[in-house]
Amino acid sequence: MNQAIVVNSPSIDTKAAFDSDTFNASVMNTYGRFPLAIEKGEGCLLWDTEGKEYLDFVAGIATCTLGHAHPALIEAVTSQIKKLHHVSNLYYIPEQGELAQWLVDHSCADKVFFCNSGAEANEAAIKLVRKYAHTVLDFLEQPVILTAKSSFHGRTLATITATGQEKYQKGFEPLVDGFAYVPYNDITALENAIADIDEGNRRVAAIMIEPLQGEGGVRPGDLPYFLRLRKICDENNILLVFDEVQVGIGRTGKLWGYENLGVEPDIFTSAKGLAGGIPIGAMLCKDSCAVFEPGNHASTFGGNPFVCAAGLTVLQTIEQESILQNVQARGEQLRVKLRAIALKYPDLFVDVRGWGLINGMEINSDVELTSIDIVKAAMSEGLLLAPAGTKVLRFVPPLIVSEAEVDRASEILETVISKIG
Ligand SMILES: *Cc1c(COP(=O)(O)O)cnc(C)c1O
Repeated sequence: MNQAIVVNSPSIDTKAAFDSDTFNASVMNTYGRFPLAIEKGEGCLLWDTEGKEYLDFVAGIATCTLGHAHPALIEAVTSQIKKLHHVSNLYYIPEQGELAQWLVDHSCADKVFFCNSGAEANEAAIKLVRKYAHTVLDFLEQPVILTAKSSFHGRTLATITATGQEKYQKGFEPLVDGFAYVPYNDITALENAIADIDEGNRRVAAIMIEPLQGEGGVRPGDLPYFLRLRKICDENNILLVFDEVQVGIGRTGKLWGYENLGVEPDIFTSAKGLAGGIPIGAMLCKDSCAVFEPGNHASTFGGNPFVCAAGLTVLQTIEQESILQNVQARGEQLRVKLRAIALKYPDLFVDVRGWGLINGMEINSDVELTSIDIVKAAMSEGLLLAPAGTKVLRFVPPLIVSEAEVDRASEILETVISKIG
């Protein structure tokens, strides 16, 4: 036996095995976790506390843009933390300015506000809409924000209200005033809602929507719907707000989800992939609606030097390593493979859809099988997948995923399905 290997490998003799009971004794019971404790990662691979290897097609739920332990990200955060990691927005933060400038140069936005998560970015957008309604839209007293059914916008009180799914709202009433819901991709329903919500000082001030619904089942927006939506907003003085938290930062093969739809929002939000797994959120908007003034909104951690250095590195790496091309090619490759599996098991699967590296595979509603069943089976074969609701499997690997890794993931999935089907 090679002694060097014995000394360096995580040894079950010297390290206590991970104990979920001990974990659950002190961590709040808010997640239905899978029985897996992850210890380290590299690229698109992860290893659990027992040394078992997994191919990661979850990426921290569409967050680890550059995968795990990417050399550029390691270098950026290491050198930044040695220099300065946090000061407060009482002062100018050069890294924040650099990240904002990159985002403005590479999007339709003119101004950026930084916070720490997707929900917070959406909260900032909701506040901006209300301020705009009160100050610009004829002092509108009761602005309503329309959102889509099956949407997901976060877990704060305002964002669960914005989220068009009862399961996230139940038990947390009273919800926040000023929201109404329309079915996704349905222009008639939208026009009716705008007409219905229009009396005196109450009218629709904004439509907040995902270019592709992620959590709600990986449902891409319809091109004609979004073109019409933009027109309706222009004609009625309504702000168009896109939640780009999951689909932004190259996930769809374009930098922003809205580029797939040929329209620009007035306001949009970003978070998950923006700093590759370091907590960050951003709310971006055009100058025409940048109505916040000093004191209107703030965040202690928002845009600190550490996260901004990470964000800037993620974005520069996407550019320098031509990652968008990889997302397009690997996404196409993955959909071809998934469609072949779906064709082989037509009783089990009804649809494969997505853009770039956010893809969903929908399970037939007539079968008892759920997305969680397949996720668990794939996990035991070494492939990590995420559910998007009870009937859709979600594939959101790091954007650096290789051709061989997409092949391997498809092979594992096929093995899993052949055992189930
Ligand atoms: C994940 C997600 C959010 C919430 O982001 P958090 O960082 O968890 O607050 C909001 N909107 C969309 C579209 C998301 O996918």
